[in-house]
Amino acid sequence: MTKSPRACVIGNPISHSLSPKLHGYWLKRYDLPGEYTSLQVAEADLENVLRTLPEQGFVGVNVTIPHKVDVLQYADQITDRATLIGAANTLTFKEDGRIFADNTDGYGFISNLRQGAPDWNPKSGPAMVFGAGGAARAVIVALADAGAPEIILTNRTRAKAEALRADFGARIRVVDWVQAGTALKDAGVLVNTTSLGMKGAADFKVSLDELRPETVVTDIVYNPLRTPLLTTAEKLGCTTVDGLGMLLHQGVPGFERWFGKRPEVDEDTRQAVLA
Ligand code: NAP
Repeated sequence: MTKSPRACVIGNPISHSLSPKLHGYWLKRYDLPGEYTSLQVAEADLENVLRTLPEQGFVGVNVTIPHKVDVLQYADQITDRATLIGAANTLTFKEDGRIFADNTDGYGFISNLRQGAPDWNPKSGPAMVFGAGGAARAVIVALADAGAPEIILTNRTRAKAEALRADFGARIRVVDWVQAGTALKDAGVLVNTTSLGMKGAADFKVSLDELRPETVVTDIVYNPLRTPLLTTAEKLGCTTVDGLGMLLHQGVPGFERWFGKRPEVDEDTRQAVLA
């Protein structure tokens, strides 16, 4: 008899992760055999855990902070997008224990944006990205893939934005954090990938006076769901897209690979995760 597939999310800490709720909901919704749990893994134990999970019936894992970069060194096969981003969030264990690494954060980001702002045309104008951390890499790759003609990138620490430009090429134009407010007027889409606006973090204080109502505004911070950035943008008449959907959509490829069914991301999924 085939054992029912097991998957989990690994990170340190891990108790905050919404992935068990998400995958648990989908397993129930589609009446599929299998389980999805969470596992706190210290940095020193990472390799050992990855080598032993397949023996325990695990078919894959999602990976979160702080392991997204380190897992790549244990992977036997890495997708182009994970290589480009320099990190993986979705590992699949082959039957012989070999590890296939993918990064679905950019896919999750762009799928959420397309679902929340169906009229947005990525080719219609520059994308303005705030932040140059780990998440920004996935967002930039996804925007470039989607056909954004230019990516205007700004970060408190300018050198990190310059480093991303060096990695991802000339389509990126770096602007100073203090000039970000004036660069906004050109944007077809504005994306916050910094932690500003997150519960417990500093506020997003860049002036939005130059923002046009035609600009689509999305925040990848999802706690709170309506960040101050989204609230202000909404008042200015912009279409806004919150960050929860990025998390939901990034889970789709892993779930499909591990449990054999491509799951829907819809309002019921959102409510199940928020419950
Ligand atoms: P990270 O690598 O630590 O990067 C943090 C970014 O925030 C950097 O650009 C940093 O700028 C900036 N920042 C932090 N404090 C700042 C401040 N006081 N003023 C200006 N900029 C500041 O983090 P990450 O992994 O990219 O994650 C960023 C956010 O995205 C987090 O809130 C995370 O929860 C969220 N996220 C959401 C999803 C989703 O599925 N929706 C996925 C991944 C991440 P410096 O370089 O100057 O420090």
